[in-house]
Amino acid sequence: MLNREKLFIGGQWIAPAGRETIDVHNAGNGEVMGRIPAAGEKEVDAAVKAARAALDAWSATPPATRADYLQKISDGLKARSDELARTIAQEVGMPLKMASRIQAGLPIANFANYAKLVREFKWEDRVGNSVVVRDPVGVVAAITPWNYPLHQITLKLAPALGAGCTVVLKPSEVAPFNAFILAEVIEQVGLPKGVFNIVTGFGPNAGEALVKHPGVDMISFTGSTRAGKRISELAAQGVKRVALELGGKSASVILDDADLPTAVKNTVNGCYLNSGQTCTALTRMLVPASKYDEAAKLAADVAKGFTVGDPLAETTKLGPLSSAAQLERVRSYIKKGQSEGAELVTGGAEAPEGVPQGGYYVRPTVFGKVKNSMTIAQEEIFGPVLSIIPYQDEEEAVRIANDSVYGLAGAVWSKDEARAQRVARRIRAGQIDINGGAFNMNAPFGGFKQSGHGREAGVYGLEEFLEYKSLQLKG
Ligand code: NAD
Repeated sequence: MLNREKLFIGGQWIAPAGRETIDVHNAGNGEVMGRIPAAGEKEVDAAVKAARAALDAWSATPPATRADYLQKISDGLKARSDELARTIAQEVGMPLKMASRIQAGLPIANFANYAKLVREFKWEDRVGNSVVVRDPVGVVAAITPWNYPLHQITLKLAPALGAGCTVVLKPSEVAPFNAFILAEVIEQVGLPKGVFNIVTGFGPNAGEALVKHPGVDMISFTGSTRAGKRISELAAQGVKRVALELGGKSASVILDDADLPTAVKNTVNGCYLNSGQTCTALTRMLVPASKYDEAAKLAADVAKGFTVGDPLAETTKLGPLSSAAQLERVRSYIKKGQSEGAELVTGGAEAPEGVPQGGYYVRPTVFGKVKNSMTIAQEEIFGPVLSIIPYQDEEEAVRIANDSVYGLAGAVWSKDEARAQRVARRIRAGQIDINGGAFNMNAPFGGFKQSGHGREAGVYGLEEFLEYKSLQLKG
């Protein structure tokens, strides 16, 4: 059991005032893998005060020194990467090998990358008779989800610390243990007391207390659009800066001249990554109507290759979902797809066979002949469920891709790269892969429309945590 009884506040491990705890479940078998404190207002208040007290000294620390700490955190995480990957594989359900590369690997790389970016950043500029300086925004509340838990923490924490902000983190109660490992690493590298603090608890309690706290200057949130709206309302009362990374319903637009097998295979992979629990998942596959039958067959073949199983088993390609609630939700969307008249190409709502008892497993599912107005094409399912939507011509493809309240990501496939770029430029979303273009940790990441506002990653992510200040000089 990975029980945690204390919170890291002001550089010390402190027992919360209340005794309430939260059970954390192993996605692979449903068993309780440990417990964490359900913190309340008192702990949040202590954490914000500690962050506030540490702000002046930390923001006055030279950027190069702050960068050194970021590099040390990267090294500290690296030393514990096997433990991190195993922990997250069980919390979230991602197969271990992939968890090691993505869930542990990305945070290690991003802390190191921010060390470099902070060293290279231009902290002041001259405009006419003004010196424009960049100041940290202040005390940051970071509230994060469970699907890529440490990665999402890192995309807030590394740039915030690099910018000179101090941070109170409220990680997801569904996948919190990785955040405790991070706190131990931070303690070990000797980050000054109060610069980083962690409170665990439920969103409506600990989360809202943090958002409302007058000592918080900015809320950086990743999670559901529902919670993002609530946080925005609360933050508005204190005119706090808010950065939101929310949901998505991303389209993979396969043009008529694309290499169909490659495009379909990559789209299914992009949809099923982390069992579909990926905000950028390519959940809507748009194909020319004349190629629909071929595309549906190809997609079914790829889907059937996703062996479902325990995240720690070598043979597993599709792990479980992260929680019982998530399983219920995904199954009900699959039933909804059927009742609204989509064609079930493969998969379905029944539990898959041959998987460990008690785990949150679903069948890799493909729906065909989906209309974009159907619920499964409009709402974020967060499971391995692909919708294939036929279209008549390029104009219609662009219209369907944009017919969504979301605008987080997407993909375009064509043998003609210039044509693919033309189409990609017309899609209102923050990140679009062309012909499977590789992930780039320095490219800005974030959404249009109800996918949120603000950008994370690279230098764009650092800018989020800075204020401009101009000094008008006389001479
Ligand atoms: P969630 O919104 O339920 O929870 C996210 C975090 O917010 C958790 O820490 C939770 O405790 C907290 N929270 C919930 N309600 C709150 C409230 N009223 N006030 C303050 N805090 C609150 O989301 P989730 O189920 O953990 O994550 C899944 C969602 O996250 C999906 O919709 C997914 O698309 C989105 N997501 C977005 C991105 C992105 O970068 N755009 C990345 C990953 C996940």
